[in-house]
Amino acid sequence: MSECLFCKIANLEIPVEAVLESDRGMVFPDISPQAPVHLLVIPKEHYADLDAATRDPELIGHLLALATEAARSQGLTANGYRVVANTGPDAGQSVPHLHFHILGGRMLGWPPG
Ligand code: AMP
Ligand code: ZN
Repeated sequence: MSECLFCKIANLEIPVEAVLESDRGMVFPDISPQAPVHLLVIPKEHYADLDAATRDPELIGHLLALATEAARSQGLTANGYRVVANTGPDAGQSVPHLHFHILGGRMLGWPPG
């Protein structure tokens, strides 16, 4: 059994309120939201980060399509939103299972720090 937090979420060992799900991915709220809408998109299959997942570009495309669908379902399309994948220590990645953040519902500063 995997010790990976997001594998546990994907395997339903840790329950979340999924906003959207497909055969290959899940979208659910971030536990520590940094914006009025803050969702995470994860693959059900384990990849440590975006770099590792480049061997499966079809999956990356699928996850980004899920992200846009989730953003639309949350009403973010009109004013816009941000999709970001922190990758590695310099970016502050804290969970080593690929995930895209979807942030929206307020003005988002740039650069992000
Ligand atoms: P990152 O720092 O880019 O790796 O993002 C990891 C994100 O996972 C953070 O924004 C955390 O708030 C979020 N997170 C950690 N544990 C959980 C959990 N059990 N359910 C939902 N989100 C979580
Ligand atoms: Zn994992």
